[in-house]
Amino acid sequence: TSFTALGLAEPIQKALQDEGYETPTPIQAGAIPHLMEGRDLLGLAQTGTGKTAAFSLPILNELLTHPHPPKPRGMRALILAPTRELAAQIDANIAAYGRHIPGFTHAVIFGGVGQNKQVEAMKRGVDVLVAAPGRLLDLVGQGFIDLSTPEIVVLDEADRMLDMGFIHDIKRIVAQLPAQRQTLLFSATMPESIRDLAHSLLKDPATVQV
Ligand code: AMP
Repeated sequence: TSFTALGLAEPIQKALQDEGYETPTPIQAGAIPHLMEGRDLLGLAQTGTGKTAAFSLPILNELLTHPHPPKPRGMRALILAPTRELAAQIDANIAAYGRHIPGFTHAVIFGGVGQNKQVEAMKRGVDVLVAAPGRLLDLVGQGFIDLSTPEIVVLDEADRMLDMGFIHDIKRIVAQLPAQRQTLLFSATMPESIRDLAHSLLKDPATVQV
Protein backbone atom coordinates (compact mmCIF):
# COMPACT_ATOMS: atom_id res chain seq x y z
CA THR A 1 0.00 0.00 0.00
CA SER A 2 1.04 3.58 -0.63
CA PHE A 3 -0.26 6.69 1.12
CA THR A 4 -1.81 7.76 -2.19
CA ALA A 5 -3.80 4.52 -2.35
CA LEU A 6 -5.17 5.18 1.15
CA GLY A 7 -6.98 8.20 -0.30
CA LEU A 8 -5.78 10.83 2.17
CA ALA A 9 -6.44 14.42 1.12
CA GLU A 10 -3.80 16.40 -0.74
CA PRO A 11 -2.58 18.67 2.12
CA ILE A 12 -1.90 15.54 4.19
CA GLN A 13 -0.02 13.80 1.36
CA LYS A 14 2.08 16.93 1.02
CA ALA A 15 2.96 16.90 4.73
CA LEU A 16 3.93 13.22 4.50
CA GLN A 17 6.26 14.09 1.62
CA ASP A 18 7.79 16.83 3.81
CA GLU A 19 8.32 14.23 6.55
CA GLY A 20 9.94 11.84 4.09
CA TYR A 21 7.35 9.10 4.71
CA GLU A 22 7.09 6.94 1.60
CA THR A 23 5.22 3.82 2.68
CA PRO A 24 2.63 3.31 5.42
CA THR A 25 3.80 1.15 8.33
CA PRO A 26 1.75 -2.03 9.05
CA ILE A 27 -0.36 -0.34 11.76
CA GLN A 28 -1.03 2.55 9.37
CA ALA A 29 -1.93 0.28 6.44
CA GLY A 30 -4.16 -1.79 8.73
CA ALA A 31 -5.90 0.97 10.67
CA ILE A 32 -6.31 3.91 8.31
CA PRO A 33 -8.89 2.32 5.95
CA HIS A 34 -11.14 1.36 8.92
CA LEU A 35 -10.77 4.78 10.47
CA MET A 36 -11.62 6.57 7.22
CA GLU A 37 -14.83 4.52 7.14
CA GLY A 38 -15.67 5.90 10.58
CA ARG A 39 -15.20 2.65 12.48
CA ASP A 40 -14.10 2.28 16.08
CA LEU A 41 -10.70 0.67 16.46
CA LEU A 42 -8.76 -1.44 18.90
CA GLY A 43 -5.07 -1.08 18.01
CA LEU A 44 -2.49 -3.37 19.54
CA ALA A 45 0.78 -1.61 18.86
CA GLN A 46 3.90 -0.45 20.66
CA THR A 47 5.58 2.91 20.38
CA GLY A 48 7.84 3.04 17.33
CA THR A 49 5.34 1.34 15.01
CA GLY A 50 3.96 4.58 13.58
CA LYS A 51 0.73 4.45 15.62
CA THR A 52 0.65 8.22 16.08
CA ALA A 53 0.25 8.80 12.35
CA ALA A 54 -2.17 5.85 12.18
CA PHE A 55 -4.69 7.77 14.27
CA SER A 56 -3.66 11.35 13.44
CA LEU A 57 -3.88 11.15 9.64
CA PRO A 58 -7.54 9.97 9.54
CA ILE A 59 -8.48 12.68 12.09
CA LEU A 60 -6.91 15.36 9.89
CA ASN A 61 -8.52 13.85 6.81
CA GLU A 62 -11.93 14.07 8.48
CA LEU A 63 -11.39 17.74 9.34
CA LEU A 64 -10.51 18.42 5.70
CA THR A 65 -13.30 16.45 4.09
CA HIS A 66 -16.06 17.46 6.52
CA PRO A 67 -15.19 21.01 7.51
CA HIS A 68 -17.25 22.82 10.12
CA PRO A 69 -18.08 26.52 9.98
CA PRO A 70 -15.42 28.58 11.79
CA LYS A 71 -17.79 29.58 14.63
CA PRO A 72 -18.66 28.22 17.09
CA ARG A 73 -15.35 26.46 17.18
CA GLY A 74 -15.79 23.30 19.21
CA MET A 75 -13.02 20.76 19.63
CA ARG A 76 -13.46 18.06 16.98
CA ALA A 77 -10.98 15.45 18.15
CA LEU A 78 -9.59 14.59 21.58
CA ILE A 79 -6.47 12.47 22.09
CA LEU A 80 -5.74 11.24 25.63
CA ALA A 81 -2.19 10.25 26.54
CA PRO A 82 -0.69 9.08 29.86
CA THR A 83 2.27 11.47 30.21
CA ARG A 84 3.24 14.97 29.30
CA GLU A 85 6.13 13.69 27.20
CA LEU A 86 3.89 11.52 25.08
CA ALA A 87 1.22 14.24 24.83
CA ALA A 88 3.82 16.76 23.65
CA GLN A 89 5.20 14.25 21.13
CA ILE A 90 1.76 13.55 19.69
CA ASP A 91 1.02 17.27 19.47
CA ALA A 92 4.28 17.88 17.62
CA ASN A 93 3.40 15.14 15.12
CA ILE A 94 -0.10 16.55 14.65
CA ALA A 95 1.41 19.98 13.99
CA ALA A 96 3.68 18.50 11.32
CA TYR A 97 1.00 16.39 9.63
CA GLY A 98 -1.48 19.30 9.70
CA ARG A 99 0.87 22.03 8.54
CA HIS A 100 -0.70 22.42 5.08
CA ILE A 101 -4.29 22.51 6.32
CA PRO A 102 -5.56 26.10 6.17
CA GLY A 103 -6.66 27.43 9.56
CA PHE A 104 -5.94 24.17 11.37
CA THR A 105 -5.57 24.58 15.15
CA HIS A 106 -4.36 22.21 17.86
CA ALA A 107 -3.22 22.39 21.47
CA VAL A 108 -1.69 20.20 24.14
CA ILE A 109 -2.59 20.14 27.81
CA PHE A 110 -0.71 18.56 30.70
CA GLY A 111 0.05 19.19 34.35
CA GLY A 112 3.22 20.37 36.03
CA VAL A 113 3.26 23.70 34.20
CA GLY A 114 1.12 26.84 34.48
CA GLN A 115 -2.34 26.57 32.96
CA ASN A 116 -2.61 30.09 31.47
CA LYS A 117 -1.16 29.32 28.03
CA GLN A 118 -3.33 26.21 27.81
CA VAL A 119 -6.45 28.15 28.78
CA GLU A 120 -5.66 30.88 26.21
CA ALA A 121 -5.29 28.26 23.47
CA MET A 122 -8.66 26.75 24.40
CA LYS A 123 -10.30 30.20 24.30
CA ARG A 124 -8.99 30.74 20.76
CA GLY A 125 -10.48 27.39 19.77
CA VAL A 126 -8.80 24.13 18.78
CA ASP A 127 -9.70 21.48 16.22
CA VAL A 128 -7.56 18.78 17.85
CA LEU A 129 -6.69 18.65 21.54
CA VAL A 130 -4.03 16.33 22.97
CA ALA A 131 -4.32 15.98 26.74
CA ALA A 132 -3.15 14.13 29.81
CA PRO A 133 -6.21 13.13 31.87
CA GLY A 134 -5.53 14.97 35.16
CA ARG A 135 -5.02 18.49 33.79
CA LEU A 136 -7.81 17.96 31.27
CA LEU A 137 -10.34 17.26 34.04
CA ASP A 138 -8.97 20.22 35.98
CA LEU A 139 -9.65 22.60 33.08
CA VAL A 140 -13.02 20.98 32.37
CA GLY A 141 -13.96 21.54 36.02
CA GLN A 142 -13.00 25.20 35.72
CA GLY A 143 -15.24 25.55 32.68
CA PHE A 144 -12.45 26.14 30.13
CA ILE A 145 -13.05 22.96 28.14
CA ASP A 146 -16.31 21.52 26.83
CA LEU A 147 -16.17 17.75 26.34
CA SER A 148 -19.52 17.54 24.55
CA THR A 149 -18.16 18.30 21.07
CA PRO A 150 -15.43 15.85 19.93
CA GLU A 151 -16.46 13.52 17.13
CA ILE A 152 -13.30 11.42 17.39
CA VAL A 153 -11.68 10.30 20.64
CA VAL A 154 -8.37 8.45 20.97
CA LEU A 155 -6.99 6.73 24.06
CA ASP A 156 -3.30 6.23 23.40
CA GLU A 157 -1.18 3.85 25.49
CA ALA A 158 -4.30 2.83 27.38
CA ASP A 159 -2.44 0.12 29.32
CA ARG A 160 -0.05 2.73 30.68
CA MET A 161 -2.94 5.01 31.58
CA LEU A 162 -4.48 2.20 33.64
CA ASP A 163 -1.10 1.32 35.21
CA MET A 164 -0.76 4.96 36.26
CA GLY A 165 -4.15 4.85 37.97
CA PHE A 166 -6.09 6.98 35.48
CA ILE A 167 -9.10 4.68 35.20
CA HIS A 168 -11.41 6.93 37.24
CA ASP A 169 -10.26 10.03 35.37
CA ILE A 170 -10.89 8.26 32.07
CA LYS A 171 -14.39 7.25 33.15
CA ARG A 172 -15.18 10.80 34.24
CA ILE A 173 -13.93 12.15 30.90
CA VAL A 174 -15.79 9.58 28.81
CA ALA A 175 -19.04 10.25 30.71
CA GLN A 176 -19.01 13.80 29.32
CA LEU A 177 -18.24 12.87 25.71
CA PRO A 178 -21.00 12.60 23.12
CA ALA A 179 -22.48 9.11 22.90
CA GLN A 180 -22.23 9.29 19.13
CA ARG A 181 -18.54 9.43 18.39
CA GLN A 182 -15.72 7.43 16.82
CA THR A 183 -13.50 5.91 19.51
CA LEU A 184 -9.98 4.49 19.11
CA LEU A 185 -8.07 2.63 21.79
CA PHE A 186 -4.38 1.84 21.42
CA SER A 187 -2.52 -0.42 23.82
CA ALA A 188 0.77 -2.32 23.75
CA THR A 189 -0.65 -5.11 25.92
CA MET A 190 -4.06 -6.69 26.28
CA PRO A 191 -4.73 -7.56 29.95
CA GLU A 192 -8.28 -8.21 31.20
CA SER A 193 -8.58 -4.58 32.34
CA ILE A 194 -7.94 -3.31 28.81
CA ARG A 195 -10.37 -5.84 27.35
CA ASP A 196 -13.03 -4.53 29.76
CA LEU A 197 -12.25 -0.91 28.96
CA ALA A 198 -12.34 -1.59 25.22
CA HIS A 199 -15.65 -3.39 25.64
CA SER A 200 -17.18 -0.46 27.51
CA LEU A 201 -15.89 2.25 25.12
CA LEU A 202 -15.83 0.77 21.62
CA LYS A 203 -18.76 -0.11 19.36
CA ASP A 204 -18.15 -3.00 16.97
CA PRO A 205 -14.45 -2.15 16.68
CA ALA A 206 -12.07 -3.25 14.00
CA THR A 207 -8.97 -4.81 15.60
CA VAL A 208 -5.51 -4.25 14.20
CA GLN A 209 -2.50 -5.96 15.76
CA VAL A 210 1.11 -5.45 14.73
P1 AMP B 1 5.33 6.35 16.64
O1 AMP B 1 5.21 4.87 16.80
O2 AMP B 1 4.03 6.98 16.26
O3 AMP B 1 5.93 7.00 17.86
O4 AMP B 1 6.31 6.66 15.41
C1 AMP B 1 7.67 6.23 15.42
C2 AMP B 1 8.54 6.98 14.42
O5 AMP B 1 8.28 6.56 13.09
C3 AMP B 1 8.34 8.48 14.42
O6 AMP B 1 9.61 9.10 14.43
C4 AMP B 1 7.63 8.77 13.12
O7 AMP B 1 7.98 10.04 12.60
C5 AMP B 1 8.11 7.66 12.22
N1 AMP B 1 7.13 7.25 11.18
C6 AMP B 1 5.80 7.05 11.37
N2 AMP B 1 5.22 6.61 10.23
C7 AMP B 1 6.19 6.53 9.30
C8 AMP B 1 6.22 6.14 7.92
N3 AMP B 1 5.11 5.72 7.29
N4 AMP B 1 7.40 6.18 7.27
C9 AMP B 1 8.54 6.59 7.91
N5 AMP B 1 8.59 6.96 9.21
C10 AMP B 1 7.43 6.94 9.90
